[in-house]
Amino acid sequence: MINRINHPFKRSDRAANVQLSEIVQISEAAARLRAEGVDVLTFGTGEPDFPTPDHVIDAAHLAAKNGQTGYPPTQGTPVLRAAIAADATRFSGYTPEASEIIVSTGAKQVLSNAFQATVNPGDEVILPAPYWTSYADMVAFCEATVVPLECGAVTGFRLTPDQLSDAITADTKWLMLNTPGNPSGAMYSRADLEALADVLRAHPHVWIVADEIYQHITYEPFTSFRAAAPDLADRTLIVNGVSKAYAMTGWRLGWGIGPIDLIKAMVAVQGQSTSGASSISQAAALAALEGSQNLLAERAEEFRERRDLVVGALNAMPGLNCEVPGGAFYAFPDCSGVFGKTTPQGEVLETDADVCRYILDDAHVALVPGRAFGLPGYFRLSYAYATADLKEGCRRIAQALTELT
Ligand code: PMP
Repeated sequence: MINRINHPFKRSDRAANVQLSEIVQISEAAARLRAEGVDVLTFGTGEPDFPTPDHVIDAAHLAAKNGQTGYPPTQGTPVLRAAIAADATRFSGYTPEASEIIVSTGAKQVLSNAFQATVNPGDEVILPAPYWTSYADMVAFCEATVVPLECGAVTGFRLTPDQLSDAITADTKWLMLNTPGNPSGAMYSRADLEALADVLRAHPHVWIVADEIYQHITYEPFTSFRAAAPDLADRTLIVNGVSKAYAMTGWRLGWGIGPIDLIKAMVAVQGQSTSGASSISQAAALAALEGSQNLLAERAEEFRERRDLVVGALNAMPGLNCEVPGGAFYAFPDCSGVFGKTTPQGEVLETDADVCRYILDDAHVALVPGRAFGLPGYFRLSYAYATADLKEGCRRIAQALTELT
């Protein structure tokens, strides 16, 4: 037997920087309640509730049958990279070369490759908050410094050019943009992106990563950062993938589009971790990009109806104030209006985490506090769930909030 006293487990300093995400902790708390027989509604996670389209599944099946089962090229199959280039032309307003594209095991790996390939300890990465939790953990894992910039409801959860200009230092390596954003659903208009690009032109050492994974789940016109600032393409990395648009989270397939030297460095990093993304998933993604695109608008419309339902219900609740998100499938209401109120159990709610814990315990609805996304005072509700569940969840949250005194 291993002697655990003489050989205690110790994480590397780098791994110690990475926390178990609060989203996972909340899912676990919800699962514990469910195991006790409680009917919990979980609005915590970010994945579409639609199935992957049949023609995509058929293509994967065929690929496996036809022997596409060997190691694929690390950078991605040439046919898929050509389809991604065509997709950018069709939907994003620019045409990259296939050599400017890397295919990875999810958009998440694209981001992790990019940070691992480029940042050194001491480098700074500007993260407009609220931000997707993984950005901060990935940067910390690379021992670089996260520079969070608070972008609350006042600016529509968008970074302003002045904030950006004040935050840039000689050590700034990346500006992280996410449009539409998780968790706020906020979108940057073309004019917003052009104004940020104006600031960036004066700082040629700053690179831009634009995570556009929610591009097709939008209720306002979408502009890609690369289309808004084509002259910055030599220091822009666009991140995208099939997870959200085609309901393919489990296939683990995303891509990055950027200048060749950056892509080569990312391919080298990926080559020493996972190598090429699954050959079956690459065939599936090819079918998704080359098949009918009608489902994109249909699903966006379905999400728009749910958004209207949820945002309307949240804004009718005492103490909550919710901006109308332009994209993605999250509502991010300000809950500071209930701070200072007392629960029926006599607890005074002081933070967003208190509010979420109360709603989980009292209403049996799982939400994620804004602090997990670097912006306390809010919570995130994912509306990628059945309408009946969303209605019931909102009814329960409203009931719990009216019980406060
Ligand atoms: N970026 C954002 C903003 C996300 O919300 C997510 C998924 N939660 C990802 C990237 C990761 O996507 P993928 O499934 O392609 O790794």
